[in-house]
Amino acid sequence: MDEFTVINRFFTHLGPRLPEVIEGVGDDCALLQLQPGELLALSVDTSVEGRHFPEAADPWALGWRCLAVALSDLAAMGARPLGFTLSLTLPETREDWLKGFSQGLETLAKLTQCPLIGGDTTRGPLSLGVQVQGAVAPSRVWRRSGARPGQILTILGNLGSAAAGLDSMTRNPQRLQEREDWDALEKAYMLPWPLTAEAQRLAQNVSISAAIDVSDGFLADLQHLLAASALAAQIDTTQLPLDSLLVERWGLPLARDAALHAGDDYALLLVMDEEDFPLARNLCPDLKRVGQLVPGAGIRDQEGELLEAHGYNHFSLQQDKA
Ligand code: ADP
Ligand code: MG
Repeated sequence: MDEFTVINRFFTHLGPRLPEVIEGVGDDCALLQLQPGELLALSVDTSVEGRHFPEAADPWALGWRCLAVALSDLAAMGARPLGFTLSLTLPETREDWLKGFSQGLETLAKLTQCPLIGGDTTRGPLSLGVQVQGAVAPSRVWRRSGARPGQILTILGNLGSAAAGLDSMTRNPQRLQEREDWDALEKAYMLPWPLTAEAQRLAQNVSISAAIDVSDGFLADLQHLLAASALAAQIDTTQLPLDSLLVERWGLPLARDAALHAGDDYALLLVMDEEDFPLARNLCPDLKRVGQLVPGAGIRDQEGELLEAHGYNHFSLQQDKA
């Protein structure tokens, strides 16, 4: 199969048709039409085999995952997806691999209303680059820098699960291919759920002052938001959202440690006024309040202990992955 056959067979009409997409795959550029006054939101993520995901992982899941991690950045700005481009580097053109990969990609593209609008295909070690495009009204953009003292810190999505899922697959590599049998933790790592629809619901109804998605770890990413907003945070570590299976498997202390330090969960941290929390939770019942923004610098827990982000070193794949 040459490059053009691969594109035609697996990557042409993938995902929904949106009125904003004037031209998708096929010409030299894709063309997008924004609504008057809207901003274009752009983000790119590259996933490399052996570094961002284990070798020999299920191709369907890899298709889902490379789009999910990119969509998480759009959600974290309150932007609605318009489309994505795919920079695909493949060691060989294996038909069964391409079929699985494009079907995983297509499933999530449809669920999140985000079509494939272009890309590039080359030969080399397996690498999956996804650039997402989104639209957002200037008055509604969620920046990291918008938090104010006295506002509350909330979180949507569980923490620590992806680390446990990766641990399980690192110990039993044959599980990487057993997608139908994955438990909640393995799914959290391999098939992260981008909070696209949830973010849109919140963006349309609630005033969110600042947001970030948790890709590197709760403390590390919270620290980015605090630095951008020039604030400190007080958090209650007993309120961190943990999957019951994680607590059952790892016990509460290790589960909390993973929730604070491990990455790959793609939860959303959202800052809002306290009086907006009930409405926000009506829209997203899993939304949890975990702390408050205060003047100063640093992150302290309910006992006043300073919490510092450290790399999560339990698993080699997690180390130094940037
Ligand atoms: P060019 O050389 O002009 O960049 P290409 O030959 O690389 O064009 O690609 C032809 C068309 O196919 C373009 O519209 C491009 O966006 C699209 N395309 C190439 N690779 C992919 C891919 N992996 N997924 C989606 N679209 C792709
Ligand atoms: Mg090209």
